[in-house]
Amino acid sequence: MSAVRRLMASILNSLPTKHGLSLWCPRADSLHPTHQPSSVGFSGFRRSYVAASSAFANDNREFVIVGGGNAAGYAARTLVEHGMADGRLCIVSKEAYAPYERPALTKAYLFPLDKKPARLPGFHTCVGSGGERQSPDWYKEKGIEMFYEDPVTSVDIKKQTLMTNSGKLLKYGSLIIATGSTTSRFPEKIGGSLPGVHYIRDVADADSLISSLERAQKVVIVGGGYIGMEVAAAAVGWNLDTTIIFPESHLLQRLFTPSLARRYEELYQEYGVKFLKGVSIKNLEAGPDGRVAAVKLGDGSTIEADTVIIGIGAKPVVSPFESVHLNTTVGGIQVDGQFRTSIPGIFAVGDVAAFPLKIYDRIARVEHVDHARRSAQHCIKALLSAQTHTYDYLPYFYSRVFEYEGSPRKIWWQFFGDNVGETIEIGNFDPKLATFWIDSGKLKGVLLESGSTEEFQLLPELARRQPFVDKSRLQNASSVEEALEVARTAL
Ligand SMILES: Cc1cc2nc3c(=O)[nH]c(=O)nc-3n(C[C@H](O)[C@H](O)[C@H](O)COP(=O)(O)OP(=O)(O)OC[C@H]3O[C@@H](n4cnc5c(N)ncnc54)[C@H](O)[C@@H]3O)c2cc1C
Repeated sequence: MSAVRRLMASILNSLPTKHGLSLWCPRADSLHPTHQPSSVGFSGFRRSYVAASSAFANDNREFVIVGGGNAAGYAARTLVEHGMADGRLCIVSKEAYAPYERPALTKAYLFPLDKKPARLPGFHTCVGSGGERQSPDWYKEKGIEMFYEDPVTSVDIKKQTLMTNSGKLLKYGSLIIATGSTTSRFPEKIGGSLPGVHYIRDVADADSLISSLERAQKVVIVGGGYIGMEVAAAAVGWNLDTTIIFPESHLLQRLFTPSLARRYEELYQEYGVKFLKGVSIKNLEAGPDGRVAAVKLGDGSTIEADTVIIGIGAKPVVSPFESVHLNTTVGGIQVDGQFRTSIPGIFAVGDVAAFPLKIYDRIARVEHVDHARRSAQHCIKALLSAQTHTYDYLPYFYSRVFEYEGSPRKIWWQFFGDNVGETIEIGNFDPKLATFWIDSGKLKGVLLESGSTEEFQLLPELARRQPFVDKSRLQNASSVEEALEVARTAL
């Protein structure tokens, strides 16, 4: 088996198809249903504050957030709302930019250049949830100390200090780890780092991809998940010859049913996108100029490509904290229902946190912006106010593509709940469609394409309350509206 096939197979095999949770590609081990009360391993927690410093004069930071992404931005906002940021909060980030709404990178950021693509500062957190736009000046005004492009490399829990790459030593009172995930890469020896080969996690990656798209003709996208679907839609907007390759039998296998996937695949095909499914990759080949020129498949055939985008998953960033033995056996950093790790004064939120998913009684790690926002807010409130209620997250996933001006059709779907059990699909995708997941008679999950605001608002209520539904009435519904009404009346 080729190295890439093994890599793709291991990602595929690890996918929790029964647990519709990890659509942003968490690792399998993060999702095994470990039954554990939220408090186990967290007893004896003692909050460990240091006195608030005056404008950081004494190098004692009361709150330090490591990571400058989605969760960091929402945590900062919550600290500001509680009057606990000014002169007390420090954010240490690897990136050169203040926290922003990362999902924009494969959506409006990749719009064709003449179709008003999104650019910073337009999408700094927390605009994604209708909040104030937290530009670098916002942090200054709120008295928040920011360190950019200086990743944390290690932590000393006895001294309560962090070391950064540039050698800064930062003392913390409470430490909030929000380091997110990092993109899985193809090994260098099979061409994973050739010029023209792209991964997309941050603004720098997106800018580099745009510079390739500007001169691209033949684009190959490896991976049939969100990143693959969203980047392929972007490439359509740029009028590029586009092929998606993946080892599974259909798009977004972790969530979509084969029938649902077929609808989206047909739409992409109408726009000229080619699919190679169930296919493995042997290596990426360079042309005479050293840039990627072809993708060699497992069967020996090759596909020409001047730009390759790899979207095969992500891994939680735990390495700076490995030496202090935070529990990472569940994939990310294990926390309780208030995002406390097993070490007093250290918290983890967002993609990196493995938390008790109360509604389904299992430990989960969710790579999704809604969870990044909510976990950050819940953690800070618990930390500041001794709020004791457990985080109670309802899994939610969405995607929006083909939204650029002049696009023939916009795609916007939302899913809430758990994709377990049998499915009923209603609607003809023109433009609406709904899929209901039913397990032991109960409605467990629902996906809606092109719904109205009111219809989308119904979905979380259905998924949370899990009503018993009349399957034959649902099956016989003649429209999405009627099917949703059948489900609503079951509440
Ligand atoms: C291209 C793309 C598109 C996406 N689209 C969607 C979508 O449509 N819908 C959706 O729900 N979710 C989407 N997601 C997922 C969503 O963006 C993440 O779940 C969310 O950003 C997680 O927030 P976070 O703060 O935990 O991590 P991140 O936002 O990734 O932030 C982590 C930050 O920590 C920094 N960091 C890492 N290590 C260190 C260190 N040692 N020291 C200091 N800083 C460090 C990173 O550079 C980064 O700035 C998308 C993700 C990507 C990459």
